[in-house]
Amino acid sequence: SFWANVPQGPPAILGITEAFKADTFDKKINLGVGAYRDDKGKPYVLPSVRKAEDKVIHSRMNKEYAGITGVPEFTKAAAVLAYGKDSSALDRLVITQSISGTGALRIGGEFLNRFFPGAKKIYIPTPSWANHGAVFRDSGLEVAQYAYYDKNTIGLDFEGLIRDLKAAPNSSIFLFHACAHNPTGVDPTPEQWKEIEAVVKDKGHYSFFDMAYQGFASGDIHKDAFAVRYFVEQGHNICLAQSFAKNMGLYGERVGAFSIVCADADEKKRVDSQVKILVRPLYSNPPIHGARIAAEILNTPELYEQWLTEVKEMADRIIKMRALLKENLEKLGSKHDWSHITSQIGMFAYTGLTPEQMEKLAKEHSVYATKDGRISVAGITSENVGRLAEAIFKVKG
Ligand code: PMP
Repeated sequence: SFWANVPQGPPAILGITEAFKADTFDKKINLGVGAYRDDKGKPYVLPSVRKAEDKVIHSRMNKEYAGITGVPEFTKAAAVLAYGKDSSALDRLVITQSISGTGALRIGGEFLNRFFPGAKKIYIPTPSWANHGAVFRDSGLEVAQYAYYDKNTIGLDFEGLIRDLKAAPNSSIFLFHACAHNPTGVDPTPEQWKEIEAVVKDKGHYSFFDMAYQGFASGDIHKDAFAVRYFVEQGHNICLAQSFAKNMGLYGERVGAFSIVCADADEKKRVDSQVKILVRPLYSNPPIHGARIAAEILNTPELYEQWLTEVKEMADRIIKMRALLKENLEKLGSKHDWSHITSQIGMFAYTGLTPEQMEKLAKEHSVYATKDGRISVAGITSENVGRLAEAIFKVKG
């Protein structure tokens, strides 16, 4: 056989879903998936997305290819959403549609590998989204880590972060989660972002922002874009990966964008030409349907307003479930400090539970999540939160 030498790879994260499916207990809980669920635990399509999609379908547009960089009505609006309508970056921005956030990160990695003038090494937080390392390594970059999460406080290791920013050679590449850090749910405060920015500037570092949760984190698209916009205002010509998987619930439609803030029009022209050269042999041009839906929402004032309300509803449900979980744990008499559950932000909560405790949760209580203690708050509902709190209380006290 040709493939006799192909080694068996390790099981992927989907192992949780399989274990969940195999469990016959009717009150089993799946907190592994990184996708929003409504309060009945069901996948959710935003009404604004349904409306936009109907409009797209009824307009009977043709199915011709988009350009290499995608649907312009979408990318223009995506840039405004991220950087703000008055941003100085908009005129000197190179932006391309991408295969959601993952594809955006990959285009960024490939671009940096080809053209970054310094060391082709990117620093990502410890821990980071499980795919970051692989995406950047496969782009040809070396991956290093910086301190981010403090196990003891279940919070930000701010001193460690600043220390590592300073310790890295000048002009290093740093990846930052713009908001709703995955997997920890721990974000710097605006004041801490300002300190981070000052060190980044001092060191001449290059900032790559991954914004997979704009609006989904706090419910406010401007608040969630604070770090991105602040860095740009302070003169950083950042690059940015955007995803519309979470905030528009367009997961499988794969809608995203990658952008690079350039110094001036001339730089923009050159960078733009190279982004096209880079994308063309990857997939020629991106899919159009999801981008048309997102464009319809972003460019139609009523739909845009409706979408803002719906993003906030999703964010608020998650915030409410955090509060309920904490409340239930306290009611049961748990002596632990659970304030991190409500201070963390976004889809995920880092519970601080050990791998052994997570194993017990699954085996004895049919509660499934990753061994690192991360739970998807989106999987919590008014109905299962009580049982979840009991299970956590039994396992941890
Ligand atoms: N970055 C982070 C931090 C994420 O959590 C995710 C989604 N889990 C992504 C990027 C990319 O997701 P997608 O490719 O579905 O947009």
